[in-house]
Order: sequence, then C-alpha cells, then structure tokens
Amino acid sequence: MYLTPIPAFDDNYFWLLHDGKRALVVDPGDAGPVQRTLEQHALQLESILVTHHHADHTGGVNVLREATGAKVYGPATERIPQPYLPLKGGDLARALDMDFQVIDVPGHTAGHIAYYAQGVNGKPLLFCGDTLFSGGCGRLFEGTPAQMLSSLDKLSALPGNTVVCCAHEYTLSNLRFAMAVEPDNAELAAYLTQCTALRNQSQPTLPTSIAKELLVNPFLRTRQPTIMAAARRFDASAHDDSTVFAAIRQWKNQFK
Ligand code: ZN
Ligand code: FE
Repeated sequence: MYLTPIPAFDDNYFWLLHDGKRALVVDPGDAGPVQRTLEQHALQLESILVTHHHADHTGGVNVLREATGAKVYGPATERIPQPYLPLKGGDLARALDMDFQVIDVPGHTAGHIAYYAQGVNGKPLLFCGDTLFSGGCGRLFEGTPAQMLSSLDKLSALPGNTVVCCAHEYTLSNLRFAMAVEPDNAELAAYLTQCTALRNQSQPTLPTSIAKELLVNPFLRTRQPTIMAAARRFDASAHDDSTVFAAIRQWKNQFK
C-alpha cells in the first residue's frame, strides 16, 4: 500500500492510501488536488473517510462522490454531506479490503471519529483528523478538556509503532510551544531540529507515530511531573488530570 499526504489549502493534508489501482482518501476538503493526484497515478477512488464536519475536511466530498462513485463514511452524529454511511465508536469501516476500526474521539468536535487499521504494510495505521497533531492537539471547539483528554488517552494506548496521519501541518508551531512547556526535553529538542530541516525542504513532518508523540507531545504528557509543574506556573489552580490538560490547552491558545 502507498500512503501519501495530498497538501491542500495553507496547511491541510488529505491522506491518500492506495494499492496502485484503488484508493481511499481521508477528509478531502477540496476535490481539485485529490482529482489531480488520482489522474496522475490512474487511480480509482473507492472510499472517502471523513473524521468530522468542518468544511476543510468535507468541502470536496460531494464533487468526489459524484465524479467517482466513491463510498463515503463519516461520524453518525455530525452533519456530513449526504448520502454517507454513518459510523460510531466500535463500528468497522471496510475500505480497500481492510477493516478500519472506528474510535470516538470527541473534543475538537462533539462527534469526531478516528479510523484505525491493524496491519497496513506491517504496521498499524491511524487517521485522526484534528484530534491529535504532531506535538499538539486540536482546539476544543465543541468538547471539554476532560473529553479531549479521554479521547487522546484512547489514541495513546494504541501500539507505539502506529503510523499517525494528522490532518494539518502544524508541527513546527506545536513544537515551539512544547519547548516552552518542557525546555529540558532532549527528545523534543532533537525532534524540532529534525522537523525544521524537513520544512526547510518543503517536506511534510508527517506521518508521526504514537511512540514519538508520547516523547514530545505535551498534550499526551499531562501526567508527567514536568508538565504538571509547568501547567501550575501558567494556572495555579491546575490540580488534576483534566485541569492540567485545560491549563496547557489554554496556554497554547495564547502562545505566540
Ligand atoms: Zn477541524
Ligand atoms: Fe481541520
């Protein structure tokens, strides 16, 4: 299987997975870049997987469905361009002869889902939309800090070698914030250097992995003493898992 991010808008990636003939695409916010890629590689679009309702993830769905007849999957409780197959946590989405397990990950939006497949080129694969980014997580538009933390806990529990396909290239700004939270994290400093070099060559920093994120991502590390102490310097009232998480999220929102 071939996995490629199709860059779109300022910083979106529409993930394309294909076997040389048939393809699936995740969160196509715009049809044009997807259609050009399909034509270049003579691919038939078989499935469209949608993680949440935002326009930058759904804007190309209707055009692509009409042009290719692709089957559309999406979260049951959100407004997704009809017709589509509604999914909730625990369901399976079948695409390219593989089963994708659906994981409920509310927080960025109330009905946000992620798609997880066990063995793609020998590794697990995760499409997590705007829930988990490299070095960061989605903004809480429709969910509480406790909900987002519990969603991220589900993703953290996946195997370390899981290939994590995030929907935005936010890595460098996330890592600059992460360095403010954990200035002594050597793994983080090395990863920032590596990602800076990639971006200087206009290369994506994604996909990432769960193991890498556990080492560098402050939002997956809110139970580490270093992060808890940093959260309390920002907000002295942070005292438990979800208030520490909330403080780090709030700090990131204000960080320049
Ligand atoms: Zn979004
Ligand atoms: Fe987005």
